[in-house]
Amino acid sequence: MVRVTFTGDELSGFGWNGPAAHIKLIFDGTDGRAAAAGPGARSSMRTYTPRRFDATARELDVEFVIHGEGPASAWAEQAAVGQQLTIAGPGRSYAVDPEADWYVLAGDDTAIPAICTILDALPPSVKAVALIEVVDAAEEHALETRSANTEIRWLQRGTDPRHAGRELETAVRRMELPSGAGRIYVACEAEAMRRIRRHLVTERAFPRERLVTRGYWRLGETDHPDRDYGEDIA
Ligand SMILES: Cc1cc2nc3c(=O)[nH]c(=O)nc-3n(C[C@H](O)[C@H](O)[C@H](O)COP(=O)(O)OP(=O)(O)OC[C@H]3O[C@@H](n4cnc5c(N)ncnc54)[C@H](O)[C@@H]3O)c2cc1C
Repeated sequence: MVRVTFTGDELSGFGWNGPAAHIKLIFDGTDGRAAAAGPGARSSMRTYTPRRFDATARELDVEFVIHGEGPASAWAEQAAVGQQLTIAGPGRSYAVDPEADWYVLAGDDTAIPAICTILDALPPSVKAVALIEVVDAAEEHALETRSANTEIRWLQRGTDPRHAGRELETAVRRMELPSGAGRIYVACEAEAMRRIRRHLVTERAFPRERLVTRGYWRLGETDHPDRDYGEDIA
């Protein structure tokens, strides 16, 4: 992952609105909608998570998974001081339930920023388990989060992107959920998210209203829509 810190007076208008929100990064430097016009044309906007915002210093951190092709990954790989990017947002954030007895946060590397911002927003008394799938042990790093009551379980999928989400799914299936009223947040590759959602809702009868599932990207698909909540599943 590459962390980029954006700064500039324009950020004085940025309104941090809570954990796991999203922003749009526009890579053509003008208006991403113009780039998307015409049959078969591809948008140059991509969706990311505001990881940290410092209103006084006017700094916004975004963490990018470098995965190969794609305007966002390619831009992050070459990012250098002095370059500019257009940022829109933030959009809706995740509403933390202060009454929840426990949290399980399951995601791949693209969800690390979302998971960290949720952990930061949890009441200190809430026990949380984070299942995080990355390529290999070199990608496991100390998460900068304020939550002291959290267990992090790292999972390694290897370098083949076709295996995205497999280890995450296995870990969720094997996990014994604590008693009490908990909440689960899942964000990863879209098909893996659907398998995990189906398991939780149909095999475990986990209440839908306590579950948020999000497809953050889809294997083989460019610019997967940011509103994929897997609601076609159960
Ligand atoms: C709400 C939300 C928040 C997000 N926050 C973050 C974030 O903070 N950090 C982050 O890194 N990502 C985040 N993502 C995921 C990110 O938007 C996608 O990975 C996006 O596809 C990246 O754009 P791109 O231009 O690099 O690739 P695209 O042009 O969209 O895709 C090109 C190819 O790369 C593949 N691909 C895309 N992403 C990955 C991946 N992670 N691993 C392997 N192959 C991939 C696609 O299947 C496609 O074949 C978020 C997504 C959503 C919906």
